[in-house]
Amino acid sequence: MAQYDFDLITIGAGSGGVRASRVAAGYGARVAVVEERYLGGTCVNVGCIPKKLLVYASEYGALLEEAQGFGWSIARGRFEWARLIAHKNTEIQRLNGVYGDLLTTAGATIINGRATLLDPHTVAVGEQRLSARYVLIATGSWPVIPKIPGCEHAITSNEAFFLNELPESVIIVGGGYIAAEFAGIFHGMGVKVTQLYRGELFMRGFDDDLRAILAQEMRNNGVDLRFNSDIAEIEPHAKGFRAQLNDGSTLTAGLVMYATGRAPNTHRMGLEHAGVKLDSAGAVVVDRYSQSSQPNIYAVGDCTNRAMLTPVAIAEGQAVAQTLFNHQPTAVDHSLIPTAVFSQPSLGTAGLTEAQARQRGEIDVYKTRFRPLRHTISGRQERAFMKLVVDRATDRVLGCHMIGAEAGEIIQGFAVALKCGATKADFDATIAIHPTAAEEFVTMRKKAQ
Ligand code: FAD
Ligand code: NDP
Repeated sequence: MAQYDFDLITIGAGSGGVRASRVAAGYGARVAVVEERYLGGTCVNVGCIPKKLLVYASEYGALLEEAQGFGWSIARGRFEWARLIAHKNTEIQRLNGVYGDLLTTAGATIINGRATLLDPHTVAVGEQRLSARYVLIATGSWPVIPKIPGCEHAITSNEAFFLNELPESVIIVGGGYIAAEFAGIFHGMGVKVTQLYRGELFMRGFDDDLRAILAQEMRNNGVDLRFNSDIAEIEPHAKGFRAQLNDGSTLTAGLVMYATGRAPNTHRMGLEHAGVKLDSAGAVVVDRYSQSSQPNIYAVGDCTNRAMLTPVAIAEGQAVAQTLFNHQPTAVDHSLIPTAVFSQPSLGTAGLTEAQARQRGEIDVYKTRFRPLRHTISGRQERAFMKLVVDRATDRVLGCHMIGAEAGEIIQGFAVALKCGATKADFDATIAIHPTAAEEFVTMRKKAQ
């Protein structure tokens, strides 16, 4: 047997890399993890976790106003961005430590620096040369900003988490997860938000009802959400920046943020020396077991561009460890990935959209839009929306979609039911929990026309 320094070298200590490494080490493999930037990767440092903390922070203003209706007299008070960011940074530092401990306690070696591949079994980190039987690419993704004149003035989500101060106004470009979430965050903190999306209707890929209703609710909340709109050029201005739009009009704002997608982090890593094939988007091409075109090299998470979500990266990392070091070849089932957008209101979804389901056969649709109990006296006009997509032949629930408070928390549970193949009759036979919003999912009886 060839002698290598390690059984596995993982490049990238993010969601997928950390899971694969610590599970592999737990199976007795000699593991090294190379990380160039921050333990925990995107999710912990500039993604899910700090994002959710900012979402929480941005909700208090509206909650204070709603409290009036419930008998409380609370002065609106003052919001201090710098204090929030300091607390957020402290928590992230704590998590960096937790991730380091997870790896070292499992027996993995952490190596700080940028890794490149010299050949399929040799990884260079600075002057160091390390050899491994297997290499796992878990290098994540990086934001992409279209190359328009003045694009250097724009920030991405990476910088948004570390702004020195909140601007009075922001233009957010994009119509996906990050744009919708940051529109809510900034708006909740009192910033004037204009969100521009290049197409007819944002949140492409989600159920059409969710897309249209989210747009309505965000506009009702005060976000200036514009479709068929994009920036042609950005230039500095006394008030921050001036953006010239494609229709010839201009907008000024203190900040311009782009949330126009993320590209796999695979460039200048020597993958070509190692025989690893990339697709046209730069993603590592892998099979069901996350194996690349080079048999001893695997890849998981955002760098494979399958679904850029933390639990997906974790599941893929876990599966690779089981495949390589536990004699248990494991493929991740990507067919039903529940997801939530922490917009305001939030959106949660599991399974097929109505349009996807219609392409497969005859379906019935159930939907309801209602004022949640809280808002009967909160003074807020926000309405929740829920929808089930049901296969007519088998009665199986194919899709479950929601807009409203805690959509992610609610849909997570229903995703289990969908994964188990629950039918509409199973939903109907489930006793409701009252009074909740979620009970609507088991009490909808009337088919939508
Ligand atoms: P990452 O976590 O990005 O880790 C990759 C690591 O590799 C990084 O630490 C990087 O520094 C390191 N690296 C890269 N190249 C090298 C190299 N050559 N040498 C050494 N190290 C290297 N997902 C959700 O499920 N829920 C959410 O709410 C959510 N919110 C998000 C919010 C934002 C603003 C963003 C940007 C993303 C969010 N995501 C969310 C997506 C989620 O963060 C990613 O899908 C997840 O982090 C991907 O994990 P990964 O292991 O593939 O990569
Ligand atoms: P998304 O892919 O979600 O959205 C990108 C948006 O930018 C789309 O509306 C897209 O439009 C638009 N766009 C793309 N290119 C251009 C361009 N050249 N000019 C103008 N608009 C453009 O990416 P995000 O950056 O929002 O997030 C990256 C990924 O991170 C998400 O896909 C998701 O997987 C993950 N994430 C998950 C979160 C969660 O789970 N809650 C939260 C945040 C991120 P079009 O639709 O027309 O292509």
